[in-house]
Amino acid sequence: MSGSADVVVVGGGIAGSALAAVLAGDGFQVVVLERQTTYRDKVRGEVMACWGVAELVRLGLEQPLLDAGGCYVKRGLSYDEVTEPVQAEAGATSLDQMVPGVPGMLDVGHPEACEALSRAAAAAGATVVRGIGRVEIEPGDAPVVRYEHDDVVHELRCRLIVGADGRTSAVRGQLGITLHQTKPRTMCGGLLVDDLHAWPADQLSEGTEGDLHYFVLPRKNGRARLYLLHDIAQKGRFAGPDRDERFLNAFRFRCVPGSEMFAAVRPVRPCAFHPFNDSWTDHPYAPGVVLIGDAAGWNDPIIGQGLSIALRDVRIVTDLLRAGPDWSAAAFAHYGEERTERLRRLRVTARVKTDLAATFTPAGAARRRTYNSVCHSDPVLAAPQIAPIVGPDNVSAELFLPDTIDRILALT
Ligand SMILES: Cc1cc2nc3c(=O)[nH]c(=O)nc-3n(C[C@H](O)[C@H](O)[C@H](O)COP(=O)(O)OP(=O)(O)OC[C@H]3O[C@@H](n4cnc5c(N)ncnc54)[C@H](O)[C@@H]3O)c2cc1C
Repeated sequence: MSGSADVVVVGGGIAGSALAAVLAGDGFQVVVLERQTTYRDKVRGEVMACWGVAELVRLGLEQPLLDAGGCYVKRGLSYDEVTEPVQAEAGATSLDQMVPGVPGMLDVGHPEACEALSRAAAAAGATVVRGIGRVEIEPGDAPVVRYEHDDVVHELRCRLIVGADGRTSAVRGQLGITLHQTKPRTMCGGLLVDDLHAWPADQLSEGTEGDLHYFVLPRKNGRARLYLLHDIAQKGRFAGPDRDERFLNAFRFRCVPGSEMFAAVRPVRPCAFHPFNDSWTDHPYAPGVVLIGDAAGWNDPIIGQGLSIALRDVRIVTDLLRAGPDWSAAAFAHYGEERTERLRRLRVTARVKTDLAATFTPAGAARRRTYNSVCHSDPVLAAPQIAPIVGPDNVSAELFLPDTIDRILALT
């Protein structure tokens, strides 16, 4: 079975489906090859930072995510063991004021978002094939993709292959691109719950107490994703058949007003833990192939940037493909350079965040208390809080210098 297309996208997650929707809307012939027949909840990104929302709007893809149940979270605060609740509430960030025209952070279920973007791609004219088996690529001036579907091997000739197949990308592996990776320092687990009606639906919170860092990320109708993050040395801490119950009991933090509400919620999907780290490559492309989203390297999810990174990738790559007939590897050099600097800045931000939020010692708590008291009066010191909301290119470059990091980490 053979055919042809302008672009073959391997992986129809957030990055791949968004790219396919935009390119098909422009009239390109696009084929998306997705391994899953139904998108499953693997505990992946669901809160899109304000700068990612700006990219989403620019791509014309906000409405499908709102129709899929997405809602805006307008207030972010930090109930934390080093802060009184009244102080945390007074210091809340108005997320609807951070990026002009963006009403807040967008929270939407990951499988629902993938489904909505996949449908948007199909509606725009892309051919979407779900449930594919093994994929093989031939890069070069005349790229070829072979894939199995229903026990038949298909072959597609195209102008460009887009590897959007996530962290374990088969496309990246076949290109021989190895990612640089930092050593994981934390593990994070997420649990989707219902019946959290007492929590304000437009307010997210995160903070540290004892040896845990938590996130409460609400959605509509009492649904929320709860996360717990702990030191990597405690791997397996919540393992076992009563994992959900112990997870929810651990959520009864003294620093969170009314936290007994978490013991009464109803888990709707099983809890899953992942190690958190960063990875990157300076060359997410090769002749006839470009990598986007997690396939090109990911940021430590402690600062929740993966969706925004994926959408920025989509925007830059689609702009390049629209710009003219030069789809050679050299045309993607600008994308590679911008992405390298973007991920470097986000790596620094995630490192500072991990040091501040996940140093589970009395000294770590003291540093967090001092940091909270000084960051409001110093825009450079505040940048680790602001960069993940407004984007790494919208804060002072000074933040990402070693001296600034040392200054923050030296606080006592
Ligand atoms: C625990 C956790 C929490 C996170 N929280 C956030 C958050 O709050 N906010 C945020 O912005 N980011 C978050 N992230 C990061 C975010 O989930 C990812 O960066 C984002 O999903 C990347 O999108 P993607 O399309 O590149 O990859 P994916 O979402 O992984 O999609 C890849 C797709 O490719 C398909 N695929 C894989 N292999 C093949 C193959 N061989 N052939 C065909 N198809 C294939 C998969 O089935 C999948 O549909 C989190 C990550 C983790 C692990």
